[in-house]
Amino acid sequence: IKTIGVLTSGGDAPGMNAAIRAVVRTALARGKRVMGIRKGYQGLINGDIFEMDARSVSDTIQRGGTMLYTARCIEFLQPEVQQRGADMCKVFGIDGLVVIGGDGSFKGAGKLANLGINTIGIPGTIDLDIDCTDYTIGFDTAVNTAMEAIDRLRDTSTSHERCSVVEVMGRDAGYIALWCGIVNGAEYVFLPEVQNIKEEELIEKILMNRKKGKRHNLIIMSEGVGGSDELAKRIEAATGIETRATILGHLQRGGSPTAVDRMHASMMGAYAVDLLCKGESNRVVGFKNNTYVDFDIDEALAMQKDISSRQYEVSQMLETR
Ligand code: ATP
Repeated sequence: IKTIGVLTSGGDAPGMNAAIRAVVRTALARGKRVMGIRKGYQGLINGDIFEMDARSVSDTIQRGGTMLYTARCIEFLQPEVQQRGADMCKVFGIDGLVVIGGDGSFKGAGKLANLGINTIGIPGTIDLDIDCTDYTIGFDTAVNTAMEAIDRLRDTSTSHERCSVVEVMGRDAGYIALWCGIVNGAEYVFLPEVQNIKEEELIEKILMNRKKGKRHNLIIMSEGVGGSDELAKRIEAATGIETRATILGHLQRGGSPTAVDRMHASMMGAYAVDLLCKGESNRVVGFKNNTYVDFDIDEALAMQKDISSRQYEVSQMLETR
């Protein structure tokens, strides 16, 4: 491998810059040239590519978002467009590529690997919904951002003796919601992974809590279940307690990455470059049982994981009773 390209694809996540920086600096330390590709696969097929040196990534480790920008590129699902991507790599001399993103981005990476470009994926998403790894870059920052926002909401809701329904991100996965349920001390958490949602039970509980003198009820709704506005209206109608829904939204994707995110991003970035230097391709980097590991992309995409049943059990035990 002589020249390593790096791109970010899919949703952005805090810590992606730290991963880019690690790829760039490790590759330079190994004597490789580095090319930055802007806007994911869209930039690759358009040739939006520039040479990076050690200074290109100065002053970026603490910044949220991605300095390479990101995009979703629907055209890249077509084989002829994937071929154009591989051809563009050859035009710029890129023989190794690091793709930072989610499952969709890894599928694209697998296609490029089949077309002769040595490609490695790094898991970057706040949602933690990549099955081959216990950690994805961005999760810790997003959970901390959500936790702080919910703490603030609790202050004001308690003062007004309101009930709050807070919707957190996570797409089809409930990791952020489950964490917030525990770390914010919620009364109830709605997760897409747990189907037996009992709204009557929740309403009864809110009424009981009020009788016991509790001034505030916090309900965490995950994006994958959704409908927090409607739920708030139903709670208010059934209990007579003023209930507000707050959808935290994209603020959870921004902000300066935490130390945990910067550390994982740096380690995974260096790991990915080392795989390329060993001649590996079609691999995804993961973090499992406290060590960095790698898997074949197709095997990684076929893996399955679930939320921790123990965490869910604990979240239920810690709810007010
Ligand atoms: P996030 O979890 O943040 O959404 P993601 O990587 O899963 O990240 P996607 O939008 O699914 O996000 O995929 C990102 C990009 O990867 C797509 O816009 C497309 O360019 C490419 N991609 C996705 N699926 C495929 C596929 N089957 N074949 C080739 N390329 C793909």
